[in-house]
Amino acid sequence: MTIWNSNGHRPTRFDQIIGNAEVKRRLMEAASNGRLPRVSLLHGPTGSGKTTLARIMARKIACTGALLGQAEPCGNCVTCNGVFDEFTPTYEYYVEWDAAMLTADNLLALRSDLLEPNYILVIDEFQDIHPALMKQLRKVIEAAVGTIIMTTTHEHEIDDAIMNRVRLYNYALERPTASEIVDDFLIREFAQSGIRHEGRNQLLRVAECLNCEMRPIAQFAKQVLAESKDGVLTDEYLDLRFGSRDQVLMPIARRSRMV
Ligand SMILES: [Zn+2]
Repeated sequence: MTIWNSNGHRPTRFDQIIGNAEVKRRLMEAASNGRLPRVSLLHGPTGSGKTTLARIMARKIACTGALLGQAEPCGNCVTCNGVFDEFTPTYEYYVEWDAAMLTADNLLALRSDLLEPNYILVIDEFQDIHPALMKQLRKVIEAAVGTIIMTTTHEHEIDDAIMNRVRLYNYALERPTASEIVDDFLIREFAQSGIRHEGRNQLLRVAECLNCEMRPIAQFAKQVLAESKDGVLTDEYLDLRFGSRDQVLMPIARRSRMV
């Protein structure tokens, strides 16, 4: 799952996740019914944004300001603002662990913490948990009243007894399509920074010229803000950056002449 935000902030809402429409749809549906799973496993490749997604889920669960039927965390309540602030956390029931760091004592403590319904535990890189602790973790999961969100890159290394108790979300480190980038990211980015453009086709051109790679696209959005005249993205500016459309077509024309 590609997640990027040109402001350098991690996304805090489901709708800021780009691509992986099916996982997003399932999670938002559950979230809007107030029924995100009690134990879930986010499975996807390294760098796909699993922890970010886990935090969005946690934020939604902790949120006290969202109405029923609202999939996203409200973004305004005291918990929304503080869940992940390591200096001044306003939500005391949230904890993240790297699975490799967990000990038997930690699991014992977590087991009793998770009797609190508001408690949210995130276990990252679940496959790295010490094999001797698997049974104990299973007991934590069985006893939990709070929420457990686990992430993993290797779903097949996980105990069947645990797999039977989790809701699995599979997603890919997929390159988003140009349309997804425009609809899920560029339109909002440009609106937020007050840059006007000449329509969706122009934004599609940006996504395509930058090979649908989010990092350069996010940088581009920043540059436009700095360099564009009067906050308008013009075709001339795009020609300057990417070469005019005529130039792009030239190699094809040349090749056809040679045949
Ligand atoms: Zn909130």
